[in-house]
Amino acid sequence: MSKAIPQLIDGVWRDSHSRTLIEVTDPATQQVLALAPNATAEEIEAAVASAKAAFLTWREVPVSDRARLMLRYQHLLKEHHDELAELLAQETGKTLADAKGDVWRGIEVVEQAGNIASLMMGETMENVARDIDTASWIHPLGVCVGITPFNFPAMIPLWMFPLAIAAGNSFILKPSEQDPLTPNRLAQLFIEAGAPKGVLQVLHGGREVVDSLLTHPDTRAISFVGSVPVGQHVYRTGTAHMKRVQAFAGAKNHLVVMPDAHPQQVLSNLVGASCGAAGQRCMAISVAVFVGESKHWIAELQTQMAALKPGYWNDGQAAFGPLISRQAKQRVLRLIAQGKAEGAECLLDGSQCTVDGYPDGNWVGPTLFRGVTPSMALYREEIFGPVLLCVEVDSLEDAIALVNASPYGNGTSIFTRSGGAARHYQHAVEVGQVGINVPVPVPLPFFSFTGWKGSFYGDLHAYGKQGVRFFTETKTVTSRWFDDDAVVTSNLTITLK
Ligand code: NAD
Repeated sequence: MSKAIPQLIDGVWRDSHSRTLIEVTDPATQQVLALAPNATAEEIEAAVASAKAAFLTWREVPVSDRARLMLRYQHLLKEHHDELAELLAQETGKTLADAKGDVWRGIEVVEQAGNIASLMMGETMENVARDIDTASWIHPLGVCVGITPFNFPAMIPLWMFPLAIAAGNSFILKPSEQDPLTPNRLAQLFIEAGAPKGVLQVLHGGREVVDSLLTHPDTRAISFVGSVPVGQHVYRTGTAHMKRVQAFAGAKNHLVVMPDAHPQQVLSNLVGASCGAAGQRCMAISVAVFVGESKHWIAELQTQMAALKPGYWNDGQAAFGPLISRQAKQRVLRLIAQGKAEGAECLLDGSQCTVDGYPDGNWVGPTLFRGVTPSMALYREEIFGPVLLCVEVDSLEDAIALVNASPYGNGTSIFTRSGGAARHYQHAVEVGQVGINVPVPVPLPFFSFTGWKGSFYGDLHAYGKQGVRFFTETKTVTSRWFDDDAVVTSNLTITLK
């Protein structure tokens, strides 16, 4: 295989002149599925120039026509849901059910983009002063950029470009180099839905491509999702170059178990929220905080987690798939070993996990630790694997103090049958997305995805009303109309001749 996948530049799928190619592998077999290019400087320049030109005509297209493009796109995505999910499963290793969920959560944002007219309405007021009216108009920004991670190759690109383009912008997508096949297919379907030339460009590659887009004088806004160090780099570089930036970064999410909760509800939710998608979700639960007597449920948790079997994406019995890459697996194994060395008790160790027929897969089995303390690397670093840490505390106040001391603030959850405890937790916890008896509280697209603290750099969050505001700016017009027969005096009183 020597030919790399194409890039979408100026409305045409073009082969890259890149000399460095990146292997896209099946994480269960290491089979090379495709090669991705590293966009060259000329290709980046061509994409930005085309996006800049496309913006000038696209922003003049009536909002209802822009919305209809999204409705056609949503229809096509639904028609191709299964095909997209299979492609996504192959390159990520996710189970088919999980891959379908990844595509579906993206389709929901496209549905929201079809509603762009009501989301872009401004405000008006008559007589802000005598005979003077003020109206605000919502305008698109220009060339917007999306830089996306490997773990949701359908949902996260679809968080970004449909809303930005529906709002009248043009968009350059730079997907993860680890699974670029699904984003390319999403873009093909967008063109098929009738997207005009140049409103969407797709460039592939890694750091150099990202940095060129962050510093290019003609890009206006950067939407990034990925790890903490890269998120900080993107935020610092983008804002230093006067861009609007939103950077969604890593996480360490806690689920607080109150002793009055229903044990079976707690345990089945904990198992799914920690090991689903092999723990490679930014909203996965990685720390279970057992309050008081609920610690006695840890033994049963261990039994339920031990029953989970990873497997190939088309194995209907598999609970989850392999990790995305050998490097990702090495990181997780390093943290498991470090946890043991630092004195945490490993109740279940998935380091030696194997799957019949797939000897080369990046497998890590369900892993459970107890006796974890906040000073351990296992607790401090994002693991991004099927690893759950148990911490035991005496009271709800201790649980809140622990969660609030974490530098991250993406998601958290509490399981309880007490309305008072839930209300107190919801109010006191310093985390942007809270679940009450809901383990993975990802908001639907009419709300926004609102991570806090070290899990987010920026002001306006993804999708929902905040997503539209991120990709637009407000013009405020104050107007006065003179009666042809009137004379206006300096103190704004009008006298008839
Ligand atoms: P990553 O940071 O390695 O890569 C993200 C993107 O940045 C990719 O497109 C990649 O090509 C690019 N990139 C990588 N290194 C770069 C560099 N040095 N300079 C510039 N660009 C660079 O992240 P990942 O491993 O693909 O994704 C997993 C991470 O994403 C996890 O930390 C996870 O928590 C996070 N994530 C966060 C959210 C959220 O909403 N907060 C959602 C999904 C994933």
